[in-house]
Amino acid sequence: QSETPIVTRFAPSPTGFLHIGGARTALFNWLYARARGGKFVLRIEDTDRARSTPEATQAILDGLTWLGLDWDGDAISQFERADRHAEVAHTMLAQGTAYKCFASQDEIAAFRDAAKAEGRSTLYLSPWRDVPEAEHPDAPYVVRLKAPRDGETRVNDAVQGTVVVQNAQLDDMILLRSDGTPTYMLAVVVDDHDMGVTHVIRGDDHLNNASRQEQIYAAMGWSVPVWAHIPLIHGADGKKLSKRHGALGIEDYAAMGYPAAALRNYLARLGWSHGDDEIFTDAQALEWFDLDGIGKAPARLDLKKLEHTSG
Ligand code: GLU
Repeated sequence: QSETPIVTRFAPSPTGFLHIGGARTALFNWLYARARGGKFVLRIEDTDRARSTPEATQAILDGLTWLGLDWDGDAISQFERADRHAEVAHTMLAQGTAYKCFASQDEIAAFRDAAKAEGRSTLYLSPWRDVPEAEHPDAPYVVRLKAPRDGETRVNDAVQGTVVVQNAQLDDMILLRSDGTPTYMLAVVVDDHDMGVTHVIRGDDHLNNASRQEQIYAAMGWSVPVWAHIPLIHGADGKKLSKRHGALGIEDYAAMGYPAAALRNYLARLGWSHGDDEIFTDAQALEWFDLDGIGKAPARLDLKKLEHTSG
C-alpha cells in the first residue's frame, strides 16, 4: 500500500435525483476509501447553472445518507471554486503551457465547415498558439491548453487497461471561456488535485475525458490519480438504462421499502464480483471490495435479483 492516504470522491452533477448508476459509483468510492482508512469526499458539480438545482443537490445528499454512505467534510460546490480554476489557467498562461486564443466562434465554425466540405480533418488548431503577447489584439479570448502535438497520451486505467491516444488527434482544449468561466475539464482536474484525490472511480462515459485531463495534470506537473472507469449499467435486456426498466432513483427503492443494506449489497454486485458470493455483509463488502473485481462489460440491472437479495 502507498504512503499517501487514499482519497476517493463522488462528483455528481445536480441535475436530477440520485440515480442507480450514480449511487453505485458513490458506493464503490466509499467502499474503496473506507476499507483503507482513506477519505471519501463529495463534490457537487454545479457549474452548469441552467441545469443545476438546489433540489437535486438535496436529493443527492438525502439519497447518499439513506444509503449510509457518509462523506468527509462538507460537500464542495464546484461553482464556488471558479476563481481558483481561473487562477490555475492564469498560472498556465504565465508558464507558457496555455495561451490566449482570439479566434471567434464564427471563424472556428467556418474552418470546420470548410474542412468537412473538403474531406479534411476538422480538428481545429488555433493560429494563436505561438503568437507573442505584443501582437495580441484587445479583444475577447479563450484560454487554451498548449497541448503536445507529438507523442502520445497514455491513460493507465485499473479497469480498462492502458488507453493510448495520439496527441496529434487532440486539439488544444479550452480551459477558460471568453467570459472567464472554467470548462468542466479544467475544473475537474483542479478540484481533484486540490482535494488530494488519489483514486478517480467513475463511469466509463468519462474515459475519453481522462486523456484530456492527463494533459492538464502534465502541464501543471501534478501527479495523476489512479483511474478506474467502470462500465455503465444497462437494463436486463442489455439496452441503455431508461425509465421503462423500472426504478431508477434511489428514493424509489426507499419508497418501495427495500432496506438500505439490501440495496447496498445489490449495488456492490452491479459490475463488481467476488467469486460466487452474491450476498455479503457490509464488513465483507469492505474487506473484499477491490478495483480488480470490476468487470469490463456493462452491468445489468435486474430487479428480480434485488428482490432475491432482500428476501
Ligand atoms: N459530474 C460528472 C457526472 O456526473 C462526473 C465527473 C467525474 O466524476 O469526473 O457525470
